[in-house]
Amino acid sequence: MTTDAALDAVNLLDFDLDGLAAHCERLGEKRFRAVQLFRWIHQRGARDFDQMSDLAKSLRAKLASGSVIRPLAILSEHRSADGTVKWLFDVGAGDAVESVFIPEEGRGTLCISSQAGCAVGCRFCSTGHQGFSRNLSTGEILAQLWYAEHTLRRDLNRPAGERVITNVVMMGMGEPLQNYGALVPALRVMLDDHGYGLSRRRVTVSTSGVVPFMDRLRDDLPVALAVSLHAPDDALRNELVPLNRKYPLADLLAACKRYLDTAPRDFITFEYCMLDGVNDSDEQARALLALVGPKGPVGRLPCKFNLIPFNPFPASGLKRSDNARVQAFAKVLLEGGLVTTVRKTRGDDIDAACGQLAGEVQDRTRAHERMVRAPIRIVRSAPPAAPN
Ligand code: SF4
Repeated sequence: MTTDAALDAVNLLDFDLDGLAAHCERLGEKRFRAVQLFRWIHQRGARDFDQMSDLAKSLRAKLASGSVIRPLAILSEHRSADGTVKWLFDVGAGDAVESVFIPEEGRGTLCISSQAGCAVGCRFCSTGHQGFSRNLSTGEILAQLWYAEHTLRRDLNRPAGERVITNVVMMGMGEPLQNYGALVPALRVMLDDHGYGLSRRRVTVSTSGVVPFMDRLRDDLPVALAVSLHAPDDALRNELVPLNRKYPLADLLAACKRYLDTAPRDFITFEYCMLDGVNDSDEQARALLALVGPKGPVGRLPCKFNLIPFNPFPASGLKRSDNARVQAFAKVLLEGGLVTTVRKTRGDDIDAACGQLAGEVQDRTRAHERMVRAPIRIVRSAPPAAPN
């Protein structure tokens, strides 16, 4: 196939199993052929149709003439001393996205990007400062998992069929629920027993709170849900996560409650980036307890908190809370009865930590300029008056 023809060819990574079955039907083939093909692609990492020895030669020839399994070009790969691996993938037109593999005892987590850049513009996130470039296709989302799984399997000499990636988090660049149409087929492939066979509890979608699509995800495919909270009240959250102006906390928490009606997982994970002097006081921890407690806007909400040390970048104008402050904040939450974890920083030597998935996305929306022009206003209640 010539290069031009290859670009016009159908990318088989764009399909979930039903989509691939429809594609095979168009080629005059039965569904069980699609299952075989799907397994070759996702379970065995095949890219070359000639490898697919149990497919008839005639089908292989048909596939080779108009279909491809299109990986993303790699711009860089960094391996940390702690085993973390970060890949920067070229998605064309000057855009790049990152994926990060984080190995831990008994599991391997891959953090995947859903968009080049992000339109939400969270103040503490370097991707948010770059603005939005474009949505990734299903094939581009899945190509990150396909490449990471099969590359690591080869590197680590894993026997055929033994997975390296046991968990996927949609927590890289982008707001996944603002790319819903491409996200859902990708999630289906992750969960499909003929694909990656991950359980719903091991696939997490992280959202800044796109309420209507939280409801759709609940109805379509209720995987584990993480919500980027970062503030206990609307005034501060409006500043840190601008989407809050559209979907304020009461609406967000109500959507979380509805999500749990059908989600197989019985709690929401709230992500909370610890920002020095901004959202890290004991008083704010107590406000969080009130927010998700029985007297909060939606009554008691089953949840856990994940406190994330902020990864400073110069343009943010924000600082990381020190360890003692993070521990004190966690203590208030724990003593209030909330399961609370503090995220370990991983891959520091390769800038792989959360919020540093900057890549080389071009800022086409001047998001950074807007943020610098409108410095953060921190609304804090006055401290109690000193006794006379
Ligand atoms: S934290 Fe997530 S939603 Fe917010 S700007 Fe960054 S990538 Fe977008």
